Amino acid sequence: MMVKQYLNDLVSLFFPQTCAGCDVPLAYGEQLICTACWFHLPYTYAHLDSENASARQFWGRVKLEAAASYLYFKEASRVQQIIYHFKYKSRPELGLILGERYGELLKESPPFNRADVIVPVPLHPAKLRKRGYNQSALFAEGLCRAMQIPVAALCLARVKATRSQTQVNRYARHENMLEAFEIRDPEIIGGKHVLLADDVLTTGATIEACASVLLDAGAAKVSAVTIAKAL
Ligand SMILES: [Zn+2]
Repeated sequence: MMVKQYLNDLVSLFFPQTCAGCDVPLAYGEQLICTACWFHLPYTYAHLDSENASARQFWGRVKLEAAASYLYFKEASRVQQIIYHFKYKSRPELGLILGERYGELLKESPPFNRADVIVPVPLHPAKLRKRGYNQSALFAEGLCRAMQIPVAALCLARVKATRSQTQVNRYARHENMLEAFEIRDPEIIGGKHVLLADDVLTTGATIEACASVLLDAGAAKVSAVTIAKAL
């Protein structure tokens, strides 16, 4: 047995790691999420249906080639716990493993598997410093490992922090969001099918703005995937 593995086993004997979804101690060989959670997670299977709820959310707003979310997100659920650990409890590896699992499904599923490049939704630099990692970039990296499609993590940048915008009307909100993103490297996406990756789909305003900016900058097509879709 490798010394490192031995030490890991020894550490987990005294400080058992717990599942990010249900908080039970992980069994030998389990990592981050327990087998029961993987079994019971609310999968959408949306990648198999071009008119799924995530895709429909963008109709009439921005032209997406396809859109899908891996899981349904409900309050007080395993998915909420997993996303919480991923975003706020410094467990970046969760993004990689979720991306890899979803990528295994997407790599068999057109048009997602025909994308040329994966672009994660960027974080504002101030937020990135605070959190230490961009959760969408880790999800994108996991997708990349399974799908064998490269990630262009620095192509799209967030230049303005967007605050809660409940006070402004829909049009102003839309303009605000568009100004929040900027293309840094148009050559990477020119004429390409871009697969946008984000964590949770709620209003869709972020993906709508990113897709618009990418299409304006010369991307041929944009598809979008998220880890979860809010219900
Ligand atoms: Zn669990």
